[in-house]
Amino acid sequence: MQVHPEIQNGEVQTLCRMCDSRCGIRVRIENGVLTDIRPAENMPVNRGRICPRSKAALQVFYHPDRLTRPLKKKRDGGFETIELARALDEIAERIQAVKDAFGPQAMGVWKGEAVGFQQQEEYVRRFVGALGSPNYFSNDSACFKGRDLGHRLVTGFGMQIPDFSNSGLIVLIGTNTPVCHPPFMGELADARAQGARLVVVDPRLNPIGCLADIYAQPVPGTDGAFAWGLINQLIQKGAYDKELVNRHVVGFDRVADYAKTFTPRHVEMQSGILAGVVVRTAELLIASMPNVSVFCGAGVEHNEGGVNAVRAYVILSCLCGAVDLHSNLFWAEPPALNDLRLDPVPLPDGCEPIGSRQFPVLYKRAHECHTMIAMDHILGLDGYPLRGLLMTGANPAVTNPNTRKVRQAFDALDIFVVSDFFLTATARQAHYVLPAGTFLERSELHVFHKFQQMALTRRVARVEGVLNEYTLWRELALRLGFGETYFPWPDESDVNRYLLRGTGISLEDFADHPEGIAYLPVRERKYLTRPFPTPSGKLEFVSSYLKSLGLDELPVYRPPRYRRDGSNEYPFVLTTGGRKTLLYHSCHQNIPGFREIHRDAEVEIHPEDAASLNVQTGDAVRIISRIGAIEIRARVVHHSELRPGVVEVYHGWEDTPINLVTPDSVNDPISGFPLLKGVPVKIEKA
Ligand code: SF4
Repeated sequence: MQVHPEIQNGEVQTLCRMCDSRCGIRVRIENGVLTDIRPAENMPVNRGRICPRSKAALQVFYHPDRLTRPLKKKRDGGFETIELARALDEIAERIQAVKDAFGPQAMGVWKGEAVGFQQQEEYVRRFVGALGSPNYFSNDSACFKGRDLGHRLVTGFGMQIPDFSNSGLIVLIGTNTPVCHPPFMGELADARAQGARLVVVDPRLNPIGCLADIYAQPVPGTDGAFAWGLINQLIQKGAYDKELVNRHVVGFDRVADYAKTFTPRHVEMQSGILAGVVVRTAELLIASMPNVSVFCGAGVEHNEGGVNAVRAYVILSCLCGAVDLHSNLFWAEPPALNDLRLDPVPLPDGCEPIGSRQFPVLYKRAHECHTMIAMDHILGLDGYPLRGLLMTGANPAVTNPNTRKVRQAFDALDIFVVSDFFLTATARQAHYVLPAGTFLERSELHVFHKFQQMALTRRVARVEGVLNEYTLWRELALRLGFGETYFPWPDESDVNRYLLRGTGISLEDFADHPEGIAYLPVRERKYLTRPFPTPSGKLEFVSSYLKSLGLDELPVYRPPRYRRDGSNEYPFVLTTGGRKTLLYHSCHQNIPGFREIHRDAEVEIHPEDAASLNVQTGDAVRIISRIGAIEIRARVVHHSELRPGVVEVYHGWEDTPINLVTPDSVNDPISGFPLLKGVPVKIEKA
């Protein structure tokens, strides 16, 4: 691997992209070798701290298995190396052939998380728009967008992770903060030092739950019942922000009426959370409002009623008066960056963006097509044919539900291209695999909406033969005849200049401010002087938009299907989708030091269940669902960690993909998100 560092000796400040937190880091270079990563002290997001994953960026960069040359699939299923220019020529020819035969909508693009997001996403969206296809897919439509939609449907603006630093009460639902958002532990620690109380709601007793004043352990999929129980308490006690409700809310009476059912006793029956815990949590909310931070993690959105549960928690925040505060429901103002997205092109009659008929909210509000329905289009089970996919930094052969169907679909594509760092399970199915550049090999703008700051990452080094994301899409666009029009900028610095035009900030400004530049001061309670960006201009406790689509106007709670059906055949309920401390979805399993800590996939199981199955830690068991089965080692946990009957498997293991047993056909009706937190299964000793 030939590395060309930007400097021979010294330090470069940039942002870590080993997860989506984007902590400030300093990369040390000695005699042309990248030797160390240390925290930058001057970034508000991480304030001089980094997590162990960050240092592993250098192991990824120099990894012996890292791809540095394109690969082409041979007839025997193996790969051969191919010159980059030739690979791009052949890929462009095959894209054009699909377009000519089936129309541009037969091509799709898919953006994952491994390579990048924000600016990378805009390149991918621009490319597919210029190609003439609406079919943009991403991993966000199985993680994050569901919560974001839940927020937007009530407030009109997107979800921000609260600034916990000065909160009086922090309520975390379905999130494992030390693992998912390590930088926010600093804020949490600050708040706790000032006396903040902490409530954690999660079916799995996670590390943050051990620190909580109240830990509530619902049965999976019942978060909405707990939210409604708290709404009930606030309204019954008359302890809510009446001025906000009177002036800025539509649908309060409907909410008050519906909430009457959710007495503490009813919530206990629905969720298993004791009635006294509901009452005590409500008392803490009442004592702290409006200085509360209520944050829903991915655990809430991976359910059949995930968006409604999120909407209910947003309503709870509104009742607390905790709206457009830096500590809760912050209404971030974006910078005036130029937009790389293109307007959608008209499609032939009978064609629609994939999944937009079944999940119109996902398409209209999140501008995403549905990844699970995409498999049906590839396999000829629904709609028009999807014949080609270009994928960057995604591994859906492991991370999407119904693994077997995903793999069948990818095998059926006419052209399948994956750009990634390694030959992942998904890349192994591709016709062409392109070597992707790590975050250390590119320069891009990042917006920190929470702090209303922008930062520019600096390229630390180039690797011979590896394209950065911008150049990849530009080179393909040039070969397809629309590069000059839609990708006219010679390199990413020119793109960055174009994006910044109109902001009053130049690229050169960032040279003096590697820590970032504030583009607007943080202002709170902006709704006092302008309407909320909802159809009604108010906070929408009921949504006429959803009603017009035949969806729930009110965020009603329905018990999860596994509880309604009460199957004897599948007596356990599986929760998955969570991740381990050092791993990031399916990434980093090839970092040797990490693998010593997280050795293999395992199913966590309650001691009573283990005893009834005659299973001990280390034994192999089979998990069987209605769609598939998997063999996996058992780990018997402490009885407080899980409820009896609930089992947990962390996701992302390449060699043990738990999504072999998760269904792709049980979805949240608003977001289309898959059911990952309430899958009925049976378990046998293997
Ligand atoms: S939390 Fe860790 S991996 Fe994520 S950006 Fe920060 S240092 Fe990097």
